[in-house]
Amino acid sequence: MFGTNLLPVAVVARICYLCAVMSIQENRFQAIISHAKEYGFVFASSEIYDGLSAVYDYGPYGSELKKNIRDYWWKSMTQMHDNIVGIDAAIFMHPTTWKASGHVDNFSDPMIDNRDSKKRYRVDHLIEGHAEKLKDEGKNAEADALIETMNKLLAKEDYAGLKTLIGDNKIACSISGTVNWTDIRQFNLMFSTQIGSVTDEADTIYLRPETAQGIFVNFLNVQKTARMKVPFGIAQTGKAFRNEIVARQFIFRMREFEQMEMQFFIRPGTQKEWYGFWKEERLKWHLSLGIPAEKYRYHDHVKLAHYADAALDIEYEFPIGFKEVEGIHSRTDFDLASHQKYSGKKLQYFDNDINEETGKPYGNYVPYVIETSIGLDRMFLLVLSQAYTEETWIKEDGSPDGRTVLRIPAKIAPVKLAILPLTKKDGLPELARTLLDDCRAGFRCFYEEKDTIGKRYRRQDAIGTPFCVTIDGQTKEDNTVTIRYRDTMQQERVNISDIKNIITQAIN
Ligand code: ATP
Repeated sequence: MFGTNLLPVAVVARICYLCAVMSIQENRFQAIISHAKEYGFVFASSEIYDGLSAVYDYGPYGSELKKNIRDYWWKSMTQMHDNIVGIDAAIFMHPTTWKASGHVDNFSDPMIDNRDSKKRYRVDHLIEGHAEKLKDEGKNAEADALIETMNKLLAKEDYAGLKTLIGDNKIACSISGTVNWTDIRQFNLMFSTQIGSVTDEADTIYLRPETAQGIFVNFLNVQKTARMKVPFGIAQTGKAFRNEIVARQFIFRMREFEQMEMQFFIRPGTQKEWYGFWKEERLKWHLSLGIPAEKYRYHDHVKLAHYADAALDIEYEFPIGFKEVEGIHSRTDFDLASHQKYSGKKLQYFDNDINEETGKPYGNYVPYVIETSIGLDRMFLLVLSQAYTEETWIKEDGSPDGRTVLRIPAKIAPVKLAILPLTKKDGLPELARTLLDDCRAGFRCFYEEKDTIGKRYRRQDAIGTPFCVTIDGQTKEDNTVTIRYRDTMQQERVNISDIKNIITQAIN
């Protein structure tokens, strides 16, 4: 009877292959996290006190990269679109804002606790995790059916049904290994705090869970002062706070994070067309960073948020799988209409363009809204994941060599140019510093004289500096320097006076 209980060889081979791929990806993710710390990109918050769960700080190169991504988004949204302007609203807002937006009543995730381990799970994450395991075992159809049932139950908010689904599938806690689950409950994700000195209920305010509401409450202020005509957009970047139940996967899901959001105000009835426009426009923005299209996909939402009539995620293939990096939401007139109701102030727009169907002006209406919302920290993780490369090769003498390089697009790289005098003497540092002074106002430069040139190149590769320039003895004779390109490691001699132009062109 040998082998009757064994899986077919092809299935076993597939499982082994998938396990190997997963562990390579998991290792890659861990390597990226270590690299981010070692080279000053991301540190755990208050690390000397063992950190704070799901809160992170950005170091010298991380803060530069984050700023560059933010600027790139800001510029492409505001500077490159005549009809989009920016604002910078406060984190604290009047508490009624969150009642009107629906966050007090609806901004919650269904969660479940394991009674033995006391570990709390987001129900969709728990079930999705089980579906992933089924897929790894080659049971794709079973996994798909599970997700489909989950989505249907979530859409109906049928928590008893979801608990039965977890029980029927014997989904166990990863820590205790048991299926001893509590009932499913809603958990509000907003952080609250007290404003002023009196601590009665009226003073409770929230840390904003999204930046969007700062835009909605300022709709008329902006429309009037910037004299905007529908369709137009308001962009904003800034911190948002969510008390995530399961905060994990490094900076992918944090409790304090930054969003880059744009609300685009349109005529009611044109939302389908503008939703399609922004869906494509935003993907183009991602691709403009040179990231291959096959690393992205769209994911249409089945369960829509209370404010939306259509929604999708732009997903990127992180080392931990395809995950949301940006959301495009057709928010109808929900937010403006609701703020109008709660505040008692009219939030309408008078459109004096002629409607061809009626021959009369469109008149007064509450605009509809298409939102594009991207997490800055998630975009940062995306850039690191895409850029992180370990390379090995055999040198001419037969010995192995290698490097870790961050292939960050030049326009957002933390440092654009490293200026490296070959030695500390013979007037080379002086020449190098003259070049530094000429370039530093235009873009971020780095100057270093210590260590062998090879070591210095490796350090610049590790932080993603696209160009290194070496000043050597020949520079004094003919004004030429060696420029080294990070990605190809190729070097060429160019005139020192051309350097500023070469870099400026590459980063614009
Ligand atoms: P998720 O499903 O991952 O919880 P979401 O659908 O709740 O995200 P949105 O409310 O649409 O996210 O927020 C817009 C963007 O903000 C997301 O696409 C993501 O990039 C970012 N974001 C949301 N929550 C977090 C978080 N906890 N940490 C980091 N970024 C986040």
